[in-house]
Amino acid sequence: MSAATGAVTDALRELHARFADVDEGELADYIPQLALADPGAFGLALISMDGHCYSTGDAGVPFTVQSVSKPFVYALALSLLGLDEVSRWVNAEPSGEAFNAISLEHGTGRPDNAMVNAGAIVTTALIPDTPVAPRFGRILDCLSRFAGRRLDVDEEVYASEAATGDRNRALAYLIRSTGPLPVDPVAAVETYFRQCAVRVTALDLAAMAATLANGGVNPLTGDTVVSEPVAAQVLAVMATCGMYDSSGDWLLRVGLPAKSGVSGGLIAAGPARFGLATYSPLLDPTGTSVRGHRAIGMLSERLGLHLMYNPALAGSTVTLVTTADDLPAAPTGERERVRRGRVAVAAAQGALDFTAAERVLYALDEAASGRTGAVVLDLVRVTDIDTVARAMLRSGLARIADDGRRTAVADPDGRLCGPGDESGGPRRFGSREEAVTWCTETVAGPAAAAPRPNTP
Ligand code: GLN
Repeated sequence: MSAATGAVTDALRELHARFADVDEGELADYIPQLALADPGAFGLALISMDGHCYSTGDAGVPFTVQSVSKPFVYALALSLLGLDEVSRWVNAEPSGEAFNAISLEHGTGRPDNAMVNAGAIVTTALIPDTPVAPRFGRILDCLSRFAGRRLDVDEEVYASEAATGDRNRALAYLIRSTGPLPVDPVAAVETYFRQCAVRVTALDLAAMAATLANGGVNPLTGDTVVSEPVAAQVLAVMATCGMYDSSGDWLLRVGLPAKSGVSGGLIAAGPARFGLATYSPLLDPTGTSVRGHRAIGMLSERLGLHLMYNPALAGSTVTLVTTADDLPAAPTGERERVRRGRVAVAAAQGALDFTAAERVLYALDEAASGRTGAVVLDLVRVTDIDTVARAMLRSGLARIADDGRRTAVADPDGRLCGPGDESGGPRRFGSREEAVTWCTETVAGPAAAAPRPNTP
């Protein structure tokens, strides 16, 4: 391990050392096999969007995924059926109740959300079951792709829950009795038990959470497991419902989409940042790992990961707002200086999204106020423009052009206007000086024959 990245592992180690001695909480025992877990087990894992893995303690120790499977099977249902169809059968409202409560909407029998057992059973039932692609096969494939490796089932834990899971069966019968579900929740309970008995490690769970945080693309394998909108939908439901009757408090204090399971697994996702997982089987009364809760809570606080603190823009987007006569490269005489004084220039840097594009547009307006006849937007130091920012900048420049001003962009890599995209957009040049020179010629009067846009 290199010295620099060792700092991340050290942060995990410090949390491990700090909470390893906490012996509060109880092992889950309503599934008899879970009571056999080692109460001292404690592992932490973090995986970045670049697929960098950091872990400490028992991060490689296998345990059953239990309720941490729920968001991922919900993701599969959303991928196969779409949000509207899934929402007809499972709502997305926090229930404020325990994971195994009878959280069913009055009148319709629709479960409150897919993170509590009632909703998870219906979600599992919604996964198509065909001879070629049986329901559980689809679920195991999906969980495996999220983890980035082939997972299997702990048959003993499955058998243990199947032998004792009457409450979940009772929930399934209730659901069937209350609504016209086009699926058989009673059969689905058996699949649900198998799904809960899939074996994972904290490292697997970190990869699964990281895949959701990474817009559905597994950062270890590059596999697009679900689409970006589905990943966002799942994270939203995890944020509001993932921690059962402590979901509100969790969002308030920790501020990350999360999901806990009764075997002691806990995941949290920092959208576009990381996937985090802990394993420690001693549970609080809501069924959440005590050490996991504390470790993730402290990490979030120390590293400023709370979603609502976000995002303080890193660095400035706009690096220059001026007129061309103020630029160093300007040549000579008075006439030329006056001409250049009528060319407004704004420059931006970094990755442009909605927030950054708003700043750039504001700078363009500032630059274009007064007696300027042309506007140059310098994107040479821009590293990326997302589709929202591209549309905003193009329409902002079009408005300036509609006002009667010439517009040009220094955009050597074609980020704003790609090759073959010359029609209607601003004139594109390879450098700021070329764009300024062209504008200087055009503001003076009828444009001299404009050069072709520069193609790098
Ligand atoms: N299989 C467990 C159950 O249904 C999962 C519950 C959980 O992890 N919260 O009871």
